[in-house]
Amino acid sequence: MSNLNEQVALVTGASRGIGRAIALELARHGAAVVVNYNRSTEAAQRVVSEIEAGGGAALALQADVSNADQAAELVKQTVDTYGKLDILVNNAGTTRDMVIMMMSEDDWDVVIRTNLKSTFNMSKAAVKVMMRKRYGRILNLSSVAGIAGNAGQTNYSASKAGIIGFTKALAREVAARNITVNAVAPGFIPTDLTEAIPENLKQASLNAIPLGRWGTPEEVASAVAFLVSPEAGYITGQVLSIDGGMVMG
Ligand code: NAP
Repeated sequence: MSNLNEQVALVTGASRGIGRAIALELARHGAAVVVNYNRSTEAAQRVVSEIEAGGGAALALQADVSNADQAAELVKQTVDTYGKLDILVNNAGTTRDMVIMMMSEDDWDVVIRTNLKSTFNMSKAAVKVMMRKRYGRILNLSSVAGIAGNAGQTNYSASKAGIIGFTKALAREVAARNITVNAVAPGFIPTDLTEAIPENLKQASLNAIPLGRWGTPEEVASAVAFLVSPEAGYITGQVLSIDGGMVMG
């Protein structure tokens, strides 16, 4: 894969987990990376320090991307700092798992807002910048839950299925401006997000994975790095599963 030298990437929710691994991987390929976070200031700073220690350029910017004004300001600050925005990775996400009869309206709203509305907020702001340059790569984090559904996750599965529809619609809308929009659908990747899942369910999930193991944030990051590279210029509107074969077809 060619390098991402001279490119500017913004990764939402890059302080921890998969977003952190994506930020490090894009920086390793030469991109200047904006490490967005919401609450984890120190963790985001550590990601920036790690990138700088490797000779790369990075900047941590706080913003709650579920808020439209903060998302727009985040894109503005990125462009003010680095002059452009080539790559947007909509990674920020959360869960509030509960069976539907016990799920509060707030559990529903927080997850839809954090996962789906943030993707709209950030893409809307980024597309304005990318259109002018006639170049862009938008990569959204969906999930196997958005393809196959997951009991106890109606809110999360709906948000991740929504991201797939959003990805395909936006891909068609901006293709003429040389902007691609794709999604990845990770399976089970141990991070803080999966901590709350009971151990017996975690073990049971292994039976459903043909490769017989969980994935790593780095394995998601390397697929993302390809999809946002210049070489992936003829791929748009696609959803790539990264799940050890859990969901096929
Ligand atoms: P994680 O370890 O819980 O990290 C979540 C990240 O999102 C944190 O950096 C957090 O920042 C950030 N974030 C949350 N709400 C935010 C907001 N409103 N504004 C800005 N940033 C926000 O989660 P993860 O496992 O790495 O998941 C990353 C993405 O992959 C999510 O979209 C998730 O749905 C998806 N995914 C994960 C798995 C998995 O098995 N782990 C599987 C499929 C899909 P702060 O800490 O600063 O608040």
